[in-house]
Amino acid sequence: MEEIQTKIYKLGMPTDGTHHLILICINCKEEFVWDSSAQKYFQEKGYRDAPKRCKSCHTKYKKEQRAAIQTGQVNQFHSNHPH
Ligand SMILES: [Zn+2]
Repeated sequence: MEEIQTKIYKLGMPTDGTHHLILICINCKEEFVWDSSAQKYFQEKGYRDAPKRCKSCHTKYKKEQRAAIQTGQVNQFHSNHPH
């Protein structure tokens, strides 16, 4: 089984926005699906890059970011990326 052949690590928007993409989370290195509705959501938000984290890592990441902001460790670094 050469499953690795089916893996796609893709940054940037798919051109047609209709295909589900399998992305690799930069955090846990697990595959996750970026489906067409999520792609649409990103496009509506004006994000130009594909998500880099799976849902659970993203949730964790946001939680850590919020905590960091509250404790003053991070200030404006993510202010232009309100996802
Ligand atoms: Zn992850």
